[in-house]
Amino acid sequence: SDAPGVGSPDSSVKVVVRIRPVSGHGKTEDHIVKKVSSDSLSVGDRKFTFTSVLGPESSQEDVFNLIGVPLVQSSLAGYNASIVSYGQTGTGKTFTMWGPQSAMVDAHSISSYQGIVPRIFQMLFAEISKKQKCLEENNISYQCRCSFLEIYNEQIIDLLNPSQRNLQIHDDAKSGFYVENLTDEYVNNIDDVTQILITGLSNRKVGATSVHSKSSRSHIIFTCTLESWCKGTQSKNFSSSKMSKISLVDLAGLDKHKPDGVGERTEDGRDVKQSLAKLGKLINILSGVARAGEDQKIPYMDSPLTHLLKDTLGGNAKATYLCSISPDKRDKAGTLSTLRFGELAK
Ligand code: ADP
Ligand code: MG
Repeated sequence: SDAPGVGSPDSSVKVVVRIRPVSGHGKTEDHIVKKVSSDSLSVGDRKFTFTSVLGPESSQEDVFNLIGVPLVQSSLAGYNASIVSYGQTGTGKTFTMWGPQSAMVDAHSISSYQGIVPRIFQMLFAEISKKQKCLEENNISYQCRCSFLEIYNEQIIDLLNPSQRNLQIHDDAKSGFYVENLTDEYVNNIDDVTQILITGLSNRKVGATSVHSKSSRSHIIFTCTLESWCKGTQSKNFSSSKMSKISLVDLAGLDKHKPDGVGERTEDGRDVKQSLAKLGKLINILSGVARAGEDQKIPYMDSPLTHLLKDTLGGNAKATYLCSISPDKRDKAGTLSTLRFGELAK
């Protein structure tokens, strides 16, 4: 039916690159990244092609229309879906995903800086209420649960209850995997989701020696599980049910971790590097499997990150990799390595 095959126009995997605008002190002559067309860019004389390229002038709404709207549609259709934000620190991963908190507080007045995650839930709840209105005969009901966690030094922390640290993943052959003791809250509207986002994002900073250094060294995953039941008019029992999961991931920064090590601990940096490398390896295998159609062993268990993304990256899930890059020539090495990651996923 509406299940697209691999390589069809609505392919399961999208790689979108966003080029951040110039910061105040940046000089135009230092810019080596250029958007060439709607799906290609150049870095010096090298050209790269992805699903889409968003230039420095792109708005938060543009990003939402490109990847947020299809994500909501897929999840209402019963598919698992994810957005994974990847890139160097300072390129706009957090800005694009969540937006500034000031733009989140009043969930009903859309600020132009509002990130894609609050926009996604605004649309999701609007769609749900539309469906409930037009399906009066069919009595469809929805239930939505959210959790928010952080992976720091390969340990899972509950962002909705940060005293819960070092949480364990349990794999159950029947019900899949779950994180033991992780808070999973029922949400009924955009205000409930906004509250969870604000709580979780502020807890990401707890215990940091430097706010910036911690938030750039941890991965955070916001997960929403959407269930729906449709009761037919003839039947007294709920006749059909659907379940889908959405993972929204803001990864640790892909950064050079000070080779000279002056005043820096290198432990976290090494963990981050290894964790991102394992994700890259997984994604590379997933795209290989998709092409070959083989049933190869997939290294989901290599790290907490890959394990937690098992059902929203692979299989029939709709995965979007959002690669953020800086146009500045001083960031060239990080830009090229971000684009190489994007190429693995294609
Ligand atoms: P990262 O999470 O990748 O480290 P941030 O999202 O924290 O990066 O962005 C770094 C800074 O740049 C922030 O002050 C953010 O507001 C700003 N910024 C990033 N992208 C944009 C953009 N597209 N438009 C305006 N400001 C941006
Ligand atoms: Mg960030």
